[in-house]
Amino acid sequence: MQIQTNRVVSLSYTLKDDKNEIIDESTDGSFCYLHGASNIIPGLEDSLTGKSAGDELSVTVAPEQAYGVREDDRIQEVPREMFPGDVDIEPGMQFHAQGPDGQNIVVMVASVDESTVTVDGNHPLAGVQLNFDVKVLSVREATAEELEHGHVHGPHGHQHD
Ligand SMILES: [Zn+2]
Repeated sequence: MQIQTNRVVSLSYTLKDDKNEIIDESTDGSFCYLHGASNIIPGLEDSLTGKSAGDELSVTVAPEQAYGVREDDRIQEVPREMFPGDVDIEPGMQFHAQGPDGQNIVVMVASVDESTVTVDGNHPLAGVQLNFDVKVLSVREATAEELEHGHVHGPHGHQHD
């Protein structure tokens, strides 16, 4: 059975950045997604269309097709008093904030001094080219309920009460 829209696919994959560092991997068969439902990044999803169980592929996804490019205007200096006084602000900490269009974003503390906290609202993988080594483990038809919900159910998918 080939991968196409409205089918459930399980994969093993290793994801590396351009420095050949492993960013993420799943090799135990527990990763699955609903094809055509934007469950995974578009650049990877497109490459999987038409593949079937046993197929292996290497996919390079440009930042524009993954987590976007880095944008300098997402780096901002914020007065220290905007943050809770009882929290030690340290680089690498993450906070929820409002983006320029009012949407919820996660910002990461890039640096901090006595009066100013510099936060970076870029996704940690923005600007990073993603290199996937993927093996297709299985392909099946989605159930009507999965299609309605837009995600996979079962032991490795969403579990509802
Ligand atoms: Zn569901």
